[in-house]
Amino acid sequence: MKRSSVPLLLTSMVSLGVVAAPAPPEDGKLRIICFGAHPDDCEIQAGGVGAMWAAKGHHVKLVSVTNGDIGHWREAGGPLARRRKAEAEQADKILGVTSEVLDIHDGELLPTLENRRTITRLIREWKADIVLSPRPNDYHPDHRYTGILVQDAAYMVTVPFFCPDVPYLKNNPVFMYYPDGFQKPNPFQPDVAISIDSVIKQKLDALDIALESQFYEGGANGYPELMPSDPAKQKERHQEVRGHFEKRFQDQAERFRSKLAEFYGDSKAKSVRYAEAFEICEYGKQPNQDELKQLFPFFGE
Ligand SMILES: [Zn+2]
Repeated sequence: MKRSSVPLLLTSMVSLGVVAAPAPPEDGKLRIICFGAHPDDCEIQAGGVGAMWAAKGHHVKLVSVTNGDIGHWREAGGPLARRRKAEAEQADKILGVTSEVLDIHDGELLPTLENRRTITRLIREWKADIVLSPRPNDYHPDHRYTGILVQDAAYMVTVPFFCPDVPYLKNNPVFMYYPDGFQKPNPFQPDVAISIDSVIKQKLDALDIALESQFYEGGANGYPELMPSDPAKQKERHQEVRGHFEKRFQDQAERFRSKLAEFYGDSKAKSVRYAEAFEICEYGKQPNQDELKQLFPFFGE
């Protein structure tokens, strides 16, 4: 009886976020925590800048708020959740960042008090300077509620007697959103845009090779023909996945070209091929341009 009760206890603690990856040392480096709804969202939205921060010794953690257990056309449940956790860990190894996947069912995330506490604790444990998340008007309910949960934590991380088991933050982090294409009630407005040209191969490797179930195999909307047995066709399929993402990040460079110019100057901004961009959330610390350049220390390169 005793032996079986131990793993059960551990499982429930992990799902509450109590047993988290150890917090990084307080060494004066930046501390960034990114939230995505599924084990691939953070990598798509912030994999480039995440790898760039990590290469400079800053501390980056990517958290998937659900376990992704319905994110495939052929498989589901516990085996898929385990597979996707392993994929996220492989992707995050390629990017040089820390990974955590919470054990909440895919497609069932709700903005509950319990989840607000979990997100608050994770931000506090990481002692974050920057918190990234989707906007709360994204298309997928899990993305929306991830955005809501992070917004709900944005003030509470500083309140001493909310979750008093984890020390509150004396400095409110900067909260920022990932880009999306949704226009109503308001479109994404970039406050900073970053060239990810120097890490594009790492990012494409993470998406194409590590997160295989989602892109190479097509995720929830895939089908068997995406997985040919002929090695030449497999290579073609990998090229197709990489080409899709190259275009996506090229399109972002086009879309955010004027913001790139504000940070890099006109001539350098023109040569940027691939970009990521973020919008400052109105909750949390409001950085000015100089503070943004300290938080994204990439513009003098
Ligand atoms: Zn997602």
